[in-house]
Amino acid sequence: VYILGIESSCDDTSAAVLRNGVLLSNVTASQEVHKAYGGVVPELASRAHQQNVVPVVDQALKRAGIEKEQLSAIAFTRGPGLMGSLLVGVSFAKGMARSLGIPLIDVNHLQGHVMAHFIKESDDDHSAPPLPFICLLVSGGNSQIVKVNAYNDMQVLGQTIDDAAGEAIDKCSKVMGLGYPGGPIIDRLARQGNPHAYKFAEPHIPGLNYSFSGLKTSFLYSLREWIKDDPDFIEHHKEDLAASLEYTIVDILMKKLRLAVKQTNIKHVAVAGGVSANNGLRNAFHEHAEKYGWTIYIPKFSYTTDNAAMIGITGYYKYLDNDYCSIDKPAFSKVTFQ
Ligand code: ATP
Ligand code: FE
Repeated sequence: VYILGIESSCDDTSAAVLRNGVLLSNVTASQEVHKAYGGVVPELASRAHQQNVVPVVDQALKRAGIEKEQLSAIAFTRGPGLMGSLLVGVSFAKGMARSLGIPLIDVNHLQGHVMAHFIKESDDDHSAPPLPFICLLVSGGNSQIVKVNAYNDMQVLGQTIDDAAGEAIDKCSKVMGLGYPGGPIIDRLARQGNPHAYKFAEPHIPGLNYSFSGLKTSFLYSLREWIKDDPDFIEHHKEDLAASLEYTIVDILMKKLRLAVKQTNIKHVAVAGGVSANNGLRNAFHEHAEKYGWTIYIPKFSYTTDNAAMIGITGYYKYLDNDYCSIDKPAFSKVTFQ
């Protein structure tokens, strides 16, 4: 079984090829054009996807060493994401599947992030978590605690009521004038700073839900005060600021995750999404494994941010279940797991 996966929900155009669930290629074109704007500009993202989709799919097939006629099905991200971006991948996938006369498989982007844990790089790769497990899904647009009962049965136990963790990091980085995306920049600076140098407001939200908008505001207001006394405050303290911000976010994330583990009594705990690239969060997972006896699952860096390998593997499982998509199903932008 050969599956082609296509991802175009935000600002990465990605294509991957899998043979019997084993990854053969994963090619991603990231869009540099947004850097100048400090965030993703939807119209520019759609245009770049248009430019990239054919060469990226072509490369993925070449690197996998197969012809398109050998494909068994095409899996694509149907949503959630930016509508203009999704439309490019969705329309391309539909056209290609129709012309080859093979099935189409729609994949939910968030389910895909979680399914990154099932990507196999070889036949003897058995690193996937056993079911059920708990997954902390932290990306640019979402922060959720998910109970994974099966690949097609994911239960959202808690989620952010406002901003996502990645969004908060990106916005604080922007306020500091550090550039976009802020995640990797904050991560790098944080390693040289003191995580206890500054304190920022932590939310008090009941249950397993998150909130990050208060932290963002607290960060902004604190900076404004400090800059009054020292106009070069950010430049002089950026490492400590980054470390303290990262510490606060990781602390918020792990508190609720501990509660979820306690409530479900499931100690197999995974992390997924772009923010799972963060070293502070990865360290916190290792500490929790030691302290609380968790078995942890941390994806390879290349499978944390948006990629087509995660779409391909989800598509592969759906293919085995004959779970196909009809050509009239439209893309959707709204956040849902279904
Ligand atoms: P969604 O999946 O919710 O639709 P998205 O696809 O835009 O959103 P991802 O690509 O999964 O999100 O993740 C991007 C986010 O990950 C950005 O907010 C980015 O700053 C953050 N990020 C990437 N690397 C790191 C890092 N090392 N530390 C912290 N955050 C990071
Ligand atoms: Fe994503």
